[in-house]
Amino acid sequence: MKIAIIGGGLSGVLTAIYLLRKAVSSTTIYLIEQHKHQLGRGVAYASTLEYQPLNVPAAAMSLFEEQPNDFVAWLSSHQRAYTTQLTFPLNPQDFVPRCIFGDYLQARLQEAVGKAAKGVELISLVGEVCSAKRQEEGNPFLLTLGGGHSIWANKVVLALGNLAPAPIPLADPSFYQSSAYAASPWCAEALAGLPVTAPVLLIGSSLTMVDLVGSLWARKHQGKICVVSRHGLLPQPYDVNAVPYSRLPIPVQVRTSALELFRFIRCEIRKAEAKGYSWHSVLDALRDEIPAIWQAFSLQEKKRFMRHIRPYWEVHRHRMPERSAALLEELQASGQLHVMAATVVALQQHGTAVQVTLRKRKREETIHLSVDSVINCTGPQSDLTKVDMPLVQQLLADRMMTPDALRLGVLTSPQGVLLGEQAAPVTGLYTLGPLRKATWYESTALREIRRQAGTLTNELLQQEQIEQEVGEVA
Ligand SMILES: Cc1cc2nc3c(=O)[nH]c(=O)nc-3n(C[C@H](O)[C@H](O)[C@H](O)COP(=O)(O)OP(=O)(O)OC[C@H]3O[C@@H](n4cnc5c(N)ncnc54)[C@H](O)[C@@H]3O)c2cc1C
Repeated sequence: MKIAIIGGGLSGVLTAIYLLRKAVSSTTIYLIEQHKHQLGRGVAYASTLEYQPLNVPAAAMSLFEEQPNDFVAWLSSHQRAYTTQLTFPLNPQDFVPRCIFGDYLQARLQEAVGKAAKGVELISLVGEVCSAKRQEEGNPFLLTLGGGHSIWANKVVLALGNLAPAPIPLADPSFYQSSAYAASPWCAEALAGLPVTAPVLLIGSSLTMVDLVGSLWARKHQGKICVVSRHGLLPQPYDVNAVPYSRLPIPVQVRTSALELFRFIRCEIRKAEAKGYSWHSVLDALRDEIPAIWQAFSLQEKKRFMRHIRPYWEVHRHRMPERSAALLEELQASGQLHVMAATVVALQQHGTAVQVTLRKRKREETIHLSVDSVINCTGPQSDLTKVDMPLVQQLLADRMMTPDALRLGVLTSPQGVLLGEQAAPVTGLYTLGPLRKATWYESTALREIRRQAGTLTNELLQQEQIEQEVGEVA
């Protein structure tokens, strides 16, 4: 059995770890990552910028659901490596730098390799997979990597993860060629060479923006930082002391209407607050129910959710550490940070400066500002029809991948098998993580990826188990 995992981030690595732990005989796992520095870390945990904390406490970041203390225990046993970054004894409610979580992910992968059963091996490769083809159903896939290298695999897992943000539509997109524009906010190059006094525009006001403001502050940046997003909403602060709320029984009508869902959440928060709980706990209790609610919604209700509820859901669900919230407040009070609800109308390079034209929310008039650098923090692109990646284009063209109507990701079976022509499952081709947002809605964080990787591993090893059982009977 040869299983190829395309993408060396959290989703790919966790699937590899689970496979190495569970496979019992002759299984080769290929882990293929296009960017060497992201192998075993992915986009989120490879960042070398300062001030890039996890956005949930260490206590909630174990790779194994059945061993919730694993990350904290690993940190405690590696104290010596992190004496300058962490304070020991570690508080499990601390927000640890993301690159340390990347170390943990890589360490657990190495351990799984060392403990794998005889005949079970991991081969890590660096290279972009440009196509995954097969002659007919049942045949193995031929994966072609950049540079002409190719491999055969019986099963393929697409763990492509967070794709670079989409550019904002502009009448004149020539600005996107400028060196003053950073298309991806997740690498050190986004801030490379930026003078400390340079005014900066960050487009998007989500957690990525929060992290970048933190990195600028850590580099002692003195220039103005302007943040612009359609609603101008900032992520809410995390409350590490929030007492967990009991699981919510979801009324039937909530599963059929976005408005009813919204009313239900508000009503449940009122009830919870009357009993001394906080809204944070209510949203956390709801989180595991979201995939079922999302799948029950009609397309029209999904559209209503996206249009009216999504901006508020996102800022309450994806929260920032309290320390980041305090920093943002401080920078806003000092006048260095300015957050605006507006749309970017034009970006034009004039010499070394960028002229920015904005239209304020619900206003007609435009306003102008001048910055030295523009960083796109609008979040991962999820419309695969607009992605300039050879593998994605080939899978779409060969009808082995189908984008969902809302362009959140791809259509899959409940087990994560890709759906192709006429919604037929493409046997042997799987995905997990952000690409499954179309089915799960909440599908990007460790908690959901961990669960998906667990069920996917069972599915991937099913054939191995059947063969073993047949062998035993014979
Ligand atoms: C900045 C940031 C911070 C986050 N912080 C947290 C957090 O604190 N807690 C939490 O639970 N979640 C967090 N998340 C959520 C995050 O999405 C997941 O934790 C995780 O990063 C998703 O992993 P992934 O492997 O699916 O995607 P990615 O990390 O994006 O990895 C996908 C990998 O696939 C590679 N790839 C793509 N196409 C190809 C190809 N054709 N050939 C070869 N390689 C390819 C890419 O180069 C990339 O390295 C964060 C996300 C981001 C972006």
